[in-house]
Amino acid sequence: MDQARPTQVRPAGADPAEARPTAEFRALYGREPEGVWAAPGRVNLIGEYTDFNDGFVMPLALPHTARFAVARRTDGVLRLHSGDSAAGTDGGRGGVVELRVDELKPLDASGGWWRYPAGVVWALGRRGYAAEVAGGADVHLRSTVPTGAGLSSSAALEVGLALALRDLYELPLGRPELAQLCQYAENAFVGVPCGIMDQTASACCEEGHALHLDTRDLSRRQIPFDLPAHGLALLVVDTRVTHALGDGAYAERRAGCEEGARQLGVSHLRDVPHEELDAALGKLTGESVRRYVRHVVTDNHRVGLVTGHLDAGDVRAIGPVLLEGHASLRDDLRISCPELDLVVETAARTPGVHGARMTGGGFGGSAIVLVEESAVADVSHRVASAFEAAGHRAPRVFPATPSAGARQLA
Ligand code: ADP
Ligand code: MG
Repeated sequence: MDQARPTQVRPAGADPAEARPTAEFRALYGREPEGVWAAPGRVNLIGEYTDFNDGFVMPLALPHTARFAVARRTDGVLRLHSGDSAAGTDGGRGGVVELRVDELKPLDASGGWWRYPAGVVWALGRRGYAAEVAGGADVHLRSTVPTGAGLSSSAALEVGLALALRDLYELPLGRPELAQLCQYAENAFVGVPCGIMDQTASACCEEGHALHLDTRDLSRRQIPFDLPAHGLALLVVDTRVTHALGDGAYAERRAGCEEGARQLGVSHLRDVPHEELDAALGKLTGESVRRYVRHVVTDNHRVGLVTGHLDAGDVRAIGPVLLEGHASLRDDLRISCPELDLVVETAARTPGVHGARMTGGGFGGSAIVLVEESAVADVSHRVASAFEAAGHRAPRVFPATPSAGARQLA
């Protein structure tokens, strides 16, 4: 076990792919950008599969961002370039994707990564700003948000460009409205039926805070979550696996939750009070529907518990709530996998760890671990050793310092 390669733990923000988009923009387009904007990825602290039930979520922004250098054009052409390998061969390194703003088409089957930024321009056009965005733009991006790890690299792309265009065109759009516009772009242009959490987190999070979001009325509250001040760290462990089950399982859980709400005579499971859970479960038919309802009602309740502990300044007290949340995702919602369970079980046995859970859609992706700063190296090493012993690929581990939402950099 001791032979395992130590897992690399990078200081927050010190990513080797740290963006330098201005010089690259100049080299690519032969002129100066009008500004540089950044939008972060996010990790969800608690409240999973609750958003489509009109419930509560509590994401925080990562130090990792998508950075955009942008300049307006006047000829109706939109030029998009990503300097990252996430773009693949489809307009990747060296390749600029060139589109006409007036010809943007939703659900373009030939589409690659560029659909996310193009969708933002399309959505602005559909939401009343067609005249403003008609001239087009030159866009170059660099992102340090890991892709496909459940950390919302896609929302970072959308929100970063949306903020840039809002500022350049002086559009009267607040941050929550930008988030809604980006969700519309991802739903209707890219064709991904995501909720509102990711875009709201990227647009609205604040440094040193988690964001309490009510997905019913979109009311938001910044919850103090200053980990360094408490001598704590929140580690993200990216398992680097994605199990194929994902899409179908999401649709099945969603349908099961809707069925549960129907049987209980409420519009959404959000309306089932935690105190009435046992009575509600007794009324339900269908074993899986019962489990899904129990997960959603208890996870909504856990968002409230975490909020209470953080408001009281007792950050360590959220640890057991995170562990209960994991058990619920594993046993009731059944969206965990061996790699995620291994992270949580290994972390839970490590001195100095307060709690851990999988986060995001499940079947792979990332887990979070709340740990004393002094135990970060130990838990990282133990998780890496456990992965090696089980024959899994080495996980990627980094601290999720609660960071700022989207902003202009230059
Ligand atoms: P997540 O948002 O959880 O990371 P998604 O599947 O929603 O996963 O979004 C990932 C997709 O976003 C990638 O497949 C790619 O199309 C696009 N993407 C993310 N980051 C970049 C980047 N730096 N450059 C180009 N495309 C990116
Ligand atoms: Mg995404």
